[in-house]
Amino acid sequence: MANDILVLADHLKGQLSDTTLELVGKAKELAGATGGQAVVALLGAPDLAGQIAGADAVLTMDHPALADYTPEAWEKALAHLVTERQPRLVLIGNSTIGMDLGAGLSAAWNAPLVAYTVGLEADGADIVATAQVYGGKLLAEVALSGDRGICTVVAGSFPAATGGAGPAEAVAPPAGLDNLGTTFLTLVEPEGGDVDITAADILVSVGRGIGSQDNLDEVQELADAIGAPLSASRPVTDAGWLPKTRQVGKSGLKVKPKVYLTFGISGAPEHLEGMRDAELIIACNTDANAPIFVVAHYGTTLDLFDLVPAMTEKL
Ligand SMILES: Cc1cc2nc3c(=O)[nH]c(=O)nc-3n(C[C@H](O)[C@H](O)[C@H](O)COP(=O)(O)OP(=O)(O)OC[C@H]3O[C@@H](n4cnc5c(N)ncnc54)[C@H](O)[C@@H]3O)c2cc1C
Repeated sequence: MANDILVLADHLKGQLSDTTLELVGKAKELAGATGGQAVVALLGAPDLAGQIAGADAVLTMDHPALADYTPEAWEKALAHLVTERQPRLVLIGNSTIGMDLGAGLSAAWNAPLVAYTVGLEADGADIVATAQVYGGKLLAEVALSGDRGICTVVAGSFPAATGGAGPAEAVAPPAGLDNLGTTFLTLVEPEGGDVDITAADILVSVGRGIGSQDNLDEVQELADAIGAPLSASRPVTDAGWLPKTRQVGKSGLKVKPKVYLTFGISGAPEHLEGMRDAELIIACNTDANAPIFVVAHYGTTLDLFDLVPAMTEKL
């Protein structure tokens, strides 16, 4: 209802994302201030309702067109829900799906959208969102002072909700879902068998400074000694030296390892966007003015071809 904070559950292949519970945690806190409830909208996967923690209520909507994400079906379903329930704020994960959907919903529901949100606080009647701009170089504070708003929230911004959830209520799908222009066919997955760099605690990341594919062997040896997978900047994956599944950054993957060790990466904004939240960043770059040193906790201007073999030997 009017003061509720509605969270869109994000799921893929029967798995609820961690971000969903992070959004519920924040929704619960905001709902305390707005006098509403933290409500989760679960589209196309009613069986996942039991995995949702901490929400006051879960609205499920089931329809064959919602089982897998398509912008058309999900936007229609979500627009129908928010038009019926008129929540104060809708929270969506800032994933590729979320960015897609947030923009569409903003137009369909005539509500302002704050993308790349990393902070949210209630301030009187306003909700103030802190959002990343320029790939996280700057932060902007935006007051949502109307009766509605949408934020797409960056993963890892809030602690996850815990505890049981309130009752699940099935909501009838809108008629529009029976008459869609697009149909989901299949999910094209990245090359099988490759490692998931987003799940690694430590990443050894290489950039163009590596010079050639042959030189990767040396860094691979170091990564093996540490027990970490190799990740890379875009020039390395563009050249085909490592698969696309290893690319960190704006058009690659966002990672948040405990340690991110870089060799020959300059630290372009598009790269930083994918790794700046790593707990500990260690950079090796011969150029002392390279922007990677702005975000690095430790750095060295040693030549990587001197440092890497020495480190491997030590380890
Ligand atoms: C829309 C868009 C999306 C993009 N998405 C991404 C993305 O997802 N990920 C990404 O990474 N980039 C992305 N980029 C590209 C980005 O702008 C940069 O071009 C890229 O990150 C640079 O990669 P790099 O740091 O490896 O190479 P460079 O910028 O060429 O840096 C190489 C570094 O290696 C250092 N070096 C050289 N030799 C040595 C040595 N022997 N020892 C130590 N250091 C050495 C140099 O000093 C230099 O700083 C994107 C760009 C655009 C426009």
